[in-house]
Amino acid sequence: MAFFDKVKQGLDAASKKTSEVIETTKINSSIRGEKDAIEEVFRQIGKTTFEQYVATGSGNEEYLGFFQTILGHQAKVAELELKLDELKNVKDCPNCHAEQPREVLFCSKCGYRFEAPQTPPPSEE
Ligand SMILES: [Zn+2]
Repeated sequence: MAFFDKVKQGLDAASKKTSEVIETTKINSSIRGEKDAIEEVFRQIGKTTFEQYVATGSGNEEYLGFFQTILGHQAKVAELELKLDELKNVKDCPNCHAEQPREVLFCSKCGYRFEAPQTPPPSEE
């Protein structure tokens, strides 16, 4: 066999290998896409089930532990957000959720009247 025939065979094999790799990558990517879609539906089922529990106060007993876990995390998030607001010296309007300076009495966005003036921040002077 001529030298160039051998080279050509090698190139054909390499090319076949390359298209196999490309096809494998494409299929793996499609599988990942399908699995992600399944996970998203699972997530939606969980979210819907939790929202029904919050709205009605009742739900499948098997899930009550999960619901309590979520409620615990939500409480922690609220606590941390409050801490952030304190750090940034702001408060959230309970009506429109706009971030407002701590000292204002009325929301500049919706006009909501805040309950009572909050303690002023420590002076930097
Ligand atoms: Zn507001």
